[in-house]
Amino acid sequence: MIMLLRHTPTELADRKALMINPAKTCQPIGAMYASLGIHGCMPHSHGSQGCCSYHRSTLTRHYKEPVVAGTSSFTEGSSVFGGQSNMLQAIDNLFTIYEPDIVSVHTTCLSETIGDDLTQIVQKAHDDGKVPEGKYVIYAPTPSYVGSHVTGFSNMCKGIVSGFAEKTGEKLDQVNIIPGFVEPSDMEEIKRLSSEMGVKTVLFPDTSGILNGPQTGKYHMYPKGGTTVEEMKSTGDSMGTIALGSFASSLAAKFLDTKFKVPCDILELPIGLPATDRFIDSLRKIAGVNVPESITRERGQLVDVMTDMQQYFYGKKVALFGDPDQLISLTEFLVSLDMIPVHIVTGTPGKQFAETIQAITKDLPVPVNVKAHGDMFLLHQWIKNTPVDLLIGNTYGKYIARDEDIPFVRHGFPILDRVGHSYFPTVGYKGGLRLLEKILGALLDRQDRDAPEESFELVM
Ligand code: SF4
Repeated sequence: MIMLLRHTPTELADRKALMINPAKTCQPIGAMYASLGIHGCMPHSHGSQGCCSYHRSTLTRHYKEPVVAGTSSFTEGSSVFGGQSNMLQAIDNLFTIYEPDIVSVHTTCLSETIGDDLTQIVQKAHDDGKVPEGKYVIYAPTPSYVGSHVTGFSNMCKGIVSGFAEKTGEKLDQVNIIPGFVEPSDMEEIKRLSSEMGVKTVLFPDTSGILNGPQTGKYHMYPKGGTTVEEMKSTGDSMGTIALGSFASSLAAKFLDTKFKVPCDILELPIGLPATDRFIDSLRKIAGVNVPESITRERGQLVDVMTDMQQYFYGKKVALFGDPDQLISLTEFLVSLDMIPVHIVTGTPGKQFAETIQAITKDLPVPVNVKAHGDMFLLHQWIKNTPVDLLIGNTYGKYIARDEDIPFVRHGFPILDRVGHSYFPTVGYKGGLRLLEKILGALLDRQDRDAPEESFELVM
């Protein structure tokens, strides 16, 4: 891999039909992750065993927790004649053997190409008595020849609300929050900030406690965490919905708005100072509460570090890649630190991405390269043409970082070679502090490494 990267040419070619080292992964991975955030839910992959194994192992490697899921286990026969009988058998087996409250089905490339109709198959499962009383089957279409893990997450969030949300007519004093494709630690932090504000929330999906739970010596197939069915049902009666990250969360929020008249506020992920300010302000307005002193203090601490360390951030060029919602907020945060994000690539398609990044970076003194549905090869070429001081992205960036000798901060999905992301948030003011610490650590370690003897400083 490293040897191959050394041969990455600097001349850019206009590629339309070829992607090299995509900056994204399969839709079902996002759908599986969203399903795990519902309490008592067993994700089910309607396709071949290979897809399911790959998706489970990617999540397991990122979270360092066992990830369970069923599979329709397609063979040649089901690939030709359709997977209905496999899925009916699977639903029966899952409820009988593993006793989940919910089976959450997502499709794969194969089942979508055959044209399996999930609505019809799930209805048949009910008609044939394969779904026990008080149990649920929800579903979402997630073929990987379109979108990415982010759109898979988004589709399953919509599958969750359309499977559960109800309207009783009695307005509840609560706010729905769709956190986006973020870490369990981030979901925990969003809940902590909301409760600090005194706002009752239903956060869904919620993988905190499921993919960052404690070691107890006992295995629980359905850990304590996750949004409950009762909570999900109540989302149709909430005061409003805050969708964090338009790529991952707006679909479900708009569904609640259109079907149940629950108004939604679609915001960026609360990563960094400006985006966290907007999140806190939205919570304040929807719930009609005041911002407590404790949150003002956290904000002040973040502003303090931003100003104290400004000389180390100022003018540093950054390349970043990953998921669109993360990149939009990160770019805004970097600009607020007087850093210069020069190359920005997401593997997820969507015209709106480049437009948003261009609006955020329009006052920068240098031109910015931005690409949706791009790949790591292009990012590497851009870096070769305009070198950077820092690279931010998931584990796959380590090859470019090593090849170009660039300080590297791991952020996003997947992170396969480090820990911490499940436990320490990067959202909110405290998350902003953690990000600053990581960025500063990488920059100052490099400064120390390269400093000549006479300017190797003890105090910085
Ligand atoms: S790209 Fe399609 S076939 Fe391949 S692992 Fe992903 S879902 Fe399965």
